[in-house]
Amino acid sequence: MFDKILIANRGEIALRVVRAAREMGIATVAVHSTADSDAMHVRMADESICIGPPASAQSYLSIPAIISACEITGAQAIHPGYGFLSENASFVQIVQDHDLTFIGPTADHIRTMGDKITAKDTMKALGVPCVPGSAGGVPDLDAAKKIGAEMGYPVIIKATAGGGGKGMKVAKTAADMESAFHTARAEGKSNFGNDEVYIEKYLTTPRHIEIQVFGDGKGNAVHLGERDCSLQRRHQKVFEEAPGPIISPQERRAIGKVCADAVARINYIGAGTIEFLYEKGEFFFIEMNTRLQVEHPVTEAIFGVDLVREQIRVAAGLDMSFGQDDLVINGHAIEVRINAERLPSFTPCPGRISQYHAPGGLGVRMDSALYDGYSIPPFYDSLIGKLIVHGRDRPEALARLERALSELIVDGVDTTIPLFPALLAEPDIQNGTYNIHWLERWLESNLEQ
Ligand code: ADP
Repeated sequence: MFDKILIANRGEIALRVVRAAREMGIATVAVHSTADSDAMHVRMADESICIGPPASAQSYLSIPAIISACEITGAQAIHPGYGFLSENASFVQIVQDHDLTFIGPTADHIRTMGDKITAKDTMKALGVPCVPGSAGGVPDLDAAKKIGAEMGYPVIIKATAGGGGKGMKVAKTAADMESAFHTARAEGKSNFGNDEVYIEKYLTTPRHIEIQVFGDGKGNAVHLGERDCSLQRRHQKVFEEAPGPIISPQERRAIGKVCADAVARINYIGAGTIEFLYEKGEFFFIEMNTRLQVEHPVTEAIFGVDLVREQIRVAAGLDMSFGQDDLVINGHAIEVRINAERLPSFTPCPGRISQYHAPGGLGVRMDSALYDGYSIPPFYDSLIGKLIVHGRDRPEALARLERALSELIVDGVDTTIPLFPALLAEPDIQNGTYNIHWLERWLESNLEQ
């Protein structure tokens, strides 16, 4: 096992990794930009090292700075968290070239899944059901129009390198194709340096259901059920729950097995998430994320496992501490993402926290790096916390979420907290009858008037 690991991230996820490492008796090194000298992850880690100025490109994304930080501190492994360098295959290669361990999948797996066309081809070959669409990349507008006509509208044009909701455009009819095609391409080029796009049938009422998988890199893999992350704004998740309110045990077992078998066959190592759209009882693969997800705590809650601990174990060459039969669902969990953003526009709202009080009590987990007097810097993501509740069943989890939200205080900046009591008052949320478009429509009629 490692003696010391470096965490190449910030905020709540850096803290999350510190917590797992500390329970395992592993020392931690926090890295930080000059804007984050007073950040909680820096205070909580055993050691910290400044790696550059505020801009992420010169700090949290600076590979030489992070490798040097490992060399200076003697850290043997790097946990990347999510975002930043977590899905950067060349970073993984460089880490290995320096005789360090990357706590995550191999560079090859990251590269394969990071290119959505290759990911889809790979998954299809492994027996995973995919959204109907173009066979690979679509070279030009004429080809795109031909595919649209054959497949029938609406369709979605996606950048193969896309992520975070960028590089995706819907063409509702043939008349939209030209602008959708060029915009998706341009976004792919400007955000990810790759203008290759592909086309998929646009599903009109699906839910976003993702399967958590975990492999040991030696051909063994398990699934940890699904998360329903259908409540999204601009393709970004806002509210996540596990298990999915409308997924039956039989469906879970079947799709879970397909996913676990697929990743076992490629000797996948570590945590991964296979994302699907689910419509009328069918699952359609959209992409695989080769890292820990923001919403992993809902899975941890219902299975009683620590996914970061498992990531560290398998990276150190140990076996997973559970097999498929050990993984039994207990109750229901919900996570809400709290952003420092001003409603109704969701404009980022950095600034000083004058008062912070985290909720507590049975079944409540608050993953946040906030503290009284902390100044949220303007340079990074606006996620400032995740409130996770766990109950014996869905109604208890919903009631607990409402209660926990009533205790939560974040003063000094605007946040998305007021959104959640309003959502909980909706029959569709109480009943679990929502799809990926529900939240946008609700926001239009309730907030963005
Ligand atoms: P990203 O990598 O940017 O997160 P994804 O491929 O995971 O992109 O898709 C993000 C979201 O976009 C999905 O959760 C869903 O809401 C929507 N989406 C993606 N593909 C389709 C599709 N074929 N039909 C309908 N909605 C889609």
